[in-house]
Amino acid sequence: MSFEALGLHANIIRALTDAGYTQPTPVQQQAIPAAIEGRDLMVSSQTGSGKTAAFMLPALHKLATAEVAPAARTANQERQAARARGDRPRFTAAKPKLLVLTPTRELALQVTTATDKYSAHTRRLRAVSILGGMPYPKQMQLLSRNPEILVATPGRLIDHMESGKIDFSELQMLVLDEADRMLDMGFIDDIEKIVAATPATRQTMLFSATLDGVVGNMAKRITNEPLIIQI
Ligand code: AMP
Repeated sequence: MSFEALGLHANIIRALTDAGYTQPTPVQQQAIPAAIEGRDLMVSSQTGSGKTAAFMLPALHKLATAEVAPAARTANQERQAARARGDRPRFTAAKPKLLVLTPTRELALQVTTATDKYSAHTRRLRAVSILGGMPYPKQMQLLSRNPEILVATPGRLIDHMESGKIDFSELQMLVLDEADRMLDMGFIDDIEKIVAATPATRQTMLFSATLDGVVGNMAKRITNEPLIIQI
């Protein structure tokens, strides 16, 4: 089984070759084709199984192959023109296409680093981390560039949502990474609030060490006819 056979864009395959990946891991073999098709996923897999690439590669593929919507292009052109004119920057809410929620800052940074690596040959796609403890001015500056991808811990993300800095109306994909740990850390209400702010048409991919109990119930509530993968 090769990455080509999974249907990934040639520029993503180039990045994987650069990274020295020769073949997909078992979770990637199952998750990538289904995610490219648009299916929701509930995946039980451990750290080290290659789960980050299992959600990020199909997500990047979909973002890289999507037509740029005319409205989105205009919004970005307006931002550029305003910058070129030297206008005082007026903050417009970021409208990400992909949101990855993680339990910790460390995991968010790992996911962002992996995303940069996998998207090295995919123009336009930018990933930004929104983390507790990071200075607000720095985060505002990152959000003002309207990144396609946000990787965030739930608490800080809620702060930015509530102050109107992020608008999820164009969100296409939501990933919950290490969902069981997020629940253990008490993020259930924050997660519910974030999910409620995203379009019902989104694709949802949930990864967790276990799919039993509370996390399984939440997973069933927020996914739509998911493919269940147990590694
Ligand atoms: P993860 O389970 O996402 O934390 O990934 C564990 C490690 O495996 C990371 O260092 C990845 O860079 C690496 N990795 C992920 N997929 C592959 C692959 N298909 N081939 C080789 N290494 C991989």
